[in-house]
Amino acid sequence: RQAAFRTDLSVLLDQVGTGKESLSFMKRRIRRLAQQWATAANRLDAKLEQQWRDQKKILVHVGFLTEESGDVFSPKVLKGGPLGEMVQWADILTALHVLGHNLKISMSVKELQGFLGVPPGRGSCPLTGPLPFDLIYTDYHGLQQIKQHMGLSLKKHKCHIRVIDTFGTEPAYNHEEYATLHGYRTNWGYWNLNARQYMTMFPHTPDNSFMGFVSEELNETEKRSIQQNKVNNMAVVYGKEASMWKLQQGKESFLQILHKYMEVHGTVYYETQRPPEVPAFVKNHGLLPQHELQQLLRKAKLFIGFGFPYEGPAPLEAIANGCIFLQPKFNPPHSSLNHEFFRGKPTSREVFSQHPYAEQYIGRPHVMTVDYNNSVEFDSAIKEIMRTKVEPYLPYEYTCEGMLERVHAYIQHQDFCAPEPPFIPANLSRKGSAGGSRMMGPLFVPLPNTTALGWASNVTAPSAWPPLSSLRLLVSQEGQSCVDACQSAGFICEPAHFRFINNKEALRRLDVQCEVVDSEINHILPAFSVVRQECGLQREPLLFSCAGHSPKYRRLCPCRDFRHGQVALCRDCL
Ligand code: UDP
Repeated sequence: RQAAFRTDLSVLLDQVGTGKESLSFMKRRIRRLAQQWATAANRLDAKLEQQWRDQKKILVHVGFLTEESGDVFSPKVLKGGPLGEMVQWADILTALHVLGHNLKISMSVKELQGFLGVPPGRGSCPLTGPLPFDLIYTDYHGLQQIKQHMGLSLKKHKCHIRVIDTFGTEPAYNHEEYATLHGYRTNWGYWNLNARQYMTMFPHTPDNSFMGFVSEELNETEKRSIQQNKVNNMAVVYGKEASMWKLQQGKESFLQILHKYMEVHGTVYYETQRPPEVPAFVKNHGLLPQHELQQLLRKAKLFIGFGFPYEGPAPLEAIANGCIFLQPKFNPPHSSLNHEFFRGKPTSREVFSQHPYAEQYIGRPHVMTVDYNNSVEFDSAIKEIMRTKVEPYLPYEYTCEGMLERVHAYIQHQDFCAPEPPFIPANLSRKGSAGGSRMMGPLFVPLPNTTALGWASNVTAPSAWPPLSSLRLLVSQEGQSCVDACQSAGFICEPAHFRFINNKEALRRLDVQCEVVDSEINHILPAFSVVRQECGLQREPLLFSCAGHSPKYRRLCPCRDFRHGQVALCRDCL
C-alpha cells in the first residue's frame, strides 16, 4: 500500500496513552508542534512529486519508559531530569505518523508481547510465524526485552530493528566476538547489528544513522519581532538540575565575570528554596514548561553552558530563538576512557566541547566555544556576544520538514534484510555488465598530504543506497580515522560504501605499494602500512568502521557528498 501524509494528530495522541508525566510531556509537545508538522508534511508531499512511498507496519517500543526497565525518567520529568529522550521519542512518533505509516506503540512489556503475538505467561517463546512488522523502533532497554520475548527467533528478525541510541555505537563495540576479544565489551553493545541500525540524536557517528529530533521554527514576523525585543545583557544558563551548576564552583570566576556584564537567569528545578549551588544574583525561574522556556530564550541574548549536559536539544532551541550559545571547550576531550558519564557507553568518540554539533555544524556567530579557565578569553567572548547581532537560525535537518525527509529516505531505502546487492569490481566485471546501471565518473579531489583519486569508473551496483555516484575514495593520514579524513575534505564517511572499496582494485588505483595483501578481521581495515608495505582488507563486513584509527596505518575511506543542512542524505539520495 501507498503511504499518505497525515496532518491530523488526534489518533496519534490517543495512541500515546496517559497516566505518566513522561507521556503528558510528550503529548504537550506533539500538540504544540502540530501546526508545524502539518505545514512540513504538505511541503514534503509537494517536493516528492507523487514518488511512491510504501506504507510500512511499524512497532515503536519505548523500552526506557517501561516499568520493567525501572522507568527512572518519568518521575523526573517535573524535577529537572533528562528530557532530551522524551523530546526525541515524541518527534519520532510524530514523524512516523505524519509520514502515513501503520503505527503501533508499546510502552510496557505486556503491550510488546501482545503486538508480537507472544502468548501471555509463556516467557521467552520463539516467534514461530513471520514478524508482524516491517520495522521495529526501540532502544537498548527495549532490545533486551524483545530478546527475552522472542528468544532465538530474534536472530532471524533483527534486520527489522532500529535502535534509538543517543550517543552512538561504534562497530568495534557492536561485534560481540571482536568486542570481547579486543576490550570493546560494554554493558550495551555486542548485538551484532549492522551499525547503521543504531540511530543517534546528532550526526556525530557516521557509522550509525542520524535520527535527530525537531526544534521550533519561526516565521519571518516572529524573527523580526525577536530581533527587536532582544535584551542585550540578558543571559540564560543551560542546566535545569542544581548538580549541573556545581561545575562552575571552584572556578566561580567565569560566572562572576558573566555577572559583571549581564543579568543572569536560570531554570533550575527546586522544591521549596533556592538550591545552594545557584548564586544569589541569578534570577531563577524554576523548571519551565517548554513553551515558557522558548519565551525566555526569545528575550535572552546569551545561552551559556557549563559543560553538562552533553549534546542535548536545548542549545538548538536557544539558537533557533536568536540566542548565541557559549560553551566550554574540552581539552583534553571527554570520552568513555576518561569521563564517568561516557564510561561504559559503546563508543570511543572524543567530545571536544559540550555540544560538538553546535561547534562543528553551526559555529560562529551563533556558537562560541572557548576555554573557560582562561578568564581573558571568557571576558572578551562575553563582550563580543553583547555587541554581535545574530538572526535566529535552525539547520534544515532539525526542522520538521528536514526530519520527515530524512526518516522517509531511511524507511524507503535502508534495507538490512536483503542480501547485499550485487557488486562487481572493475577487474571482475564481464564485458557489457555495466549496461543500464549507474556509473561513477572519474574524480580527482586534491588534498594536501592525502591521496585522493578518481576511482570506480567501472564499478556497478544498481540498487545501492546511498547511490554509488556519491562515493569519493580517500586515504587517511596515519592515525587518522575515516570520520576525520572525510570531514577534512568536505565530505562525510559513508559506511555503506566500504564494500566497494574493500578490494585490490581500490589499492591498485590508489597506487599503494603492497608486498602482501591480507584479509583480516580488524575494524581499521581496509588499510595499509607505508613502512612495511603491508595492505589489509576487511573480512568481516560488520566491522566496516568510519571511527577506527591506528598510528601505523593509513585507511582507505569511503566518503560521500551530502546536502547542505541535511548531512544524512547525499545529493542523489532522495
Ligand atoms: N526544558 C524545559 N524546561 C526548562 C529547561 C529545559 O522544558 O526549564 C526542555 C528543553 O526545551 C529541551 C529539553 O528540556 O527540549 C531537553 O533539554 P536538555 O538540552 O537540557 O537535554 P536533556 O539533558 O534534558 O536531555
